[in-house]
Amino acid sequence: MDAVEISAEAKCECLLFDMDDTLYPMSTGLNVECRRNIEEYMVERLHMEEKEVPRMCVELYEEYGTTMAGLKALGFEFDNDDFHQYVHGRLPYENLKPDPVLKTLLLSMPQRKMIFTNADKAHAARVLRRLGLEGCFDRIICFETLNPSEIQAASDSSFLLENEKNCAHSDDSSASESIESTKRRCPRILCKPSIEAFQATINIAAINPERTIFFDDSARNVASAKKIGFTTAIVGKEMLVPGADFAVNSIHNIREALTMLREHGKEEQIEQVLPPRGVETAVLA
Ligand SMILES: [Mg+2]
Repeated sequence: MDAVEISAEAKCECLLFDMDDTLYPMSTGLNVECRRNIEEYMVERLHMEEKEVPRMCVELYEEYGTTMAGLKALGFEFDNDDFHQYVHGRLPYENLKPDPVLKTLLLSMPQRKMIFTNADKAHAARVLRRLGLEGCFDRIICFETLNPSEIQAASDSSFLLENEKNCAHSDDSSASESIESTKRRCPRILCKPSIEAFQATINIAAINPERTIFFDDSARNVASAKKIGFTTAIVGKEMLVPGADFAVNSIHNIREALTMLREHGKEEQIEQVLPPRGVETAVLA
């Protein structure tokens, strides 16, 4: 470890990543296909008016964090696993290619590395397998982690992928109690960008937000993370957004973010490595 890394580690002991459109570029097209599948689910399974679905899909996403959370809040009853299978099952995962550069980068950094995604466990596993990033993360906080079924609630529902680091989970019993406590106060689906979801993740993964950089392509997720005390990086954007300490055009710029934190503190913009990837979309936040 060189001097820069030692100094940066003193300020940053953990890297927390969104997954979709953060660990891979939006140009893969998964986001567009996922939204199409959600709209189809709303029509085919929930029998919603077809011409109203696109507008409702966006409005529910904006109001409740995800369209799925919004549908539940409106009182629609459906199986969570069935929904996830329907919207993710036909995604063009073949568009995701192994990213050995990112893998090498992640494995070379001493910080704890975690994922915080609104997506379900099966989707996260497929994405990370396709990207060749299995074994790069200490822990993955996913839909099931924050929204365990009654069966899952009895045990830790975050997961480790095959060949993943043998990470000691700290104080899981109190984390489970924390989720149950949060769910009692907030019976809706827990997901980004709600502060409650971030707080639950902090408790589950024993994260100190003041020593963690949070990377996400969603401006609203970054804004929430900032409110709760994280150092924040908006990914895939050239310009800072409200609540972002850094803007990184590519997830390959992780190390530059750490260097900037060490040398200048926050509110600096990282030079681009890859071209910008477009605007935030309304599904895979
Ligand atoms: Mg995202």
